[in-house]
Order: sequence, then structure tokens, then C-alpha cells
Amino acid sequence: TSSLPSAPNQGHHGPERRGILFIISAPSGTGKTTLCKQLTTSVAGLWHSVSYTTRKPRPGEEHGREYFFIDEKTFQGMIERNEFMEYAHVYGNWYGTPRKALMDKMEQGIDVLLEIDVQGAMQVKKKFEDGVYIFILPPSMDTLRARLQSRASDAPEEILRRLQKVKEEVWSYREYYYIVRNDDLTQSLRELQSIFVAERLKTKRLDMQWLEQNFILE
Ligand code: ADP
Ligand code: 5GP
Repeated sequence: TSSLPSAPNQGHHGPERRGILFIISAPSGTGKTTLCKQLTTSVAGLWHSVSYTTRKPRPGEEHGREYFFIDEKTFQGMIERNEFMEYAHVYGNWYGTPRKALMDKMEQGIDVLLEIDVQGAMQVKKKFEDGVYIFILPPSMDTLRARLQSRASDAPEEILRRLQKVKEEVWSYREYYYIVRNDDLTQSLRELQSIFVAERLKTKRLDMQWLEQNFILE
């Protein structure tokens, strides 16, 4: 079900254009996971990176789909071997983005989506200033609390911990290039899709070799 234009170099011309790196962060419970799942099924040619975590799986989560669920020792080993693009300690657990898969996809001209916390996004920004940094916010604290409770996957003290973190996290919005307010889900998805389309159509992201070959002969 891909109704949106794919990356300009996918199809007839080779991977001359490097993939675009999209980074999405949001306070826990905002709806980031829900939106990112819908994005990856509706935007063609977008690869959603799967992170490693020491958190226990929630009901319905699958190893290799939502996360690679590993123990602390394995995580530590990956840090030592420099296998993470970034990693952070979030709400009492470790989370990290594997470096190699991401680099391979980008080299192949495939756009990559990272769904990571603010600390991780800031580490990535030091290396990829031209990534597309998107921050999603809930309409209000009350709505956020209600969403965390309705998800019913975290204990009450865990929900409190996540809510307390929000007030500091929100101020990171300045570091992001787009802010999406997730009130109505359909509307938010449409806004996110527009960002993806616009970024792909930006001059600086076009496949220059394709332009030269087709229009600037001689
Ligand atoms: P996050 O990944 O940001 O922690 P989730 O995607 O798990 O958040 O969403 C938290 C809860 O809120 C889920 O139960 C989800 O179904 C619900 N939710 C997400 N977006 C909306 C929305 N726009 N309106 C109402 N409920 C939403
Ligand atoms: P959750 O436990 O709710 O799935 O995720 C908790 C937080 O960890 C969210 O803010 C999520 O974006 C973040 N997160 C998930 N994967 C990674 C990752 O690979 N790196 C970093 N830095 N944060 C991550």
C-alpha cells in the first residue's frame, strides 16, 4: 500500500544518491511507535532500523521486529566492539542503534528511519547534521498520561517515571527541524508523510548524476 513517491533513484537509475536519515523522537506514550509503524507501511523505500535493548519484551513484541532483546552482557560487548551508531540509558534500560545495517542501507540509497530518544538523536546529530530531525509531541500532559495508562504495558511507577521525564525532554524541541503534534492520528500521519515527500524532493537530496546525464549533456 505505497501511495507516496519513492526515492528518486529507485527504479531506473543506480544508487547514486545516498539514503536520507530520518530521526524521530517523542516523549514516551506520545504515539511514536504507532506512527512509525504506519509510516513504514505507507512510505515506499523506507527502512525502519531495529534497535537493541536490555528491556524485557512487552506482550505482543517480537525479537527482531520491535527490538532485538538482549542481556546487559551482550549489550556491553557490542559497545566495546563499537557496533552502535549511538546508544543510551533510557528509563532504566539500555537501547542502541546498530551501525552496520544503517550504513549499508544508506550507501545503497535507501532512506532510513530511526525511532530513538533525545540523547541518542543528539549523538547522531553530531555525525549526521543533514539528517531530518522530527519531534512528536502529545497535545497535553493529560492526554499523554491517558495514553500511557491505556497502553497498559508499564507499571504505575514506570508511568510516573516516564511522565516526570517529559518536562525536561520537551525543551529539546529546539534541536529538531520539524515538530508534529499528535492529536488526531490520521492527521499526524499525513503531516509526517508530507515531511518525507518534501525532503525527498529537496534539490540537495536529488540524484545529481541522474540530473547531469539526462539534462546537462555536453
Ligand atoms: P510511544 O511509542 O511514543 O511510547 P505508542 O505508539 O506506544 O507511544 O502509543 C501510546 C498509546 O497511545 C497506545 O495505546 C496508542 O494506541 C495510543 N495512541 C497513539 N497515538 C494516538 C492518537 N493520536 N490518539 C489516541 N491514541 C493514540
Ligand atoms: P520503549 O521502551 O517505550 O520501547 O522505548 C523507550 C525509549 O527508548 C523511547 O524514547 C525510544 O524512542 C527509545 N529508544 C528506542 N530505541 C532506541 C535506540 O536505539 N537508541 C536510543 N537512544 N533510544 C532508543
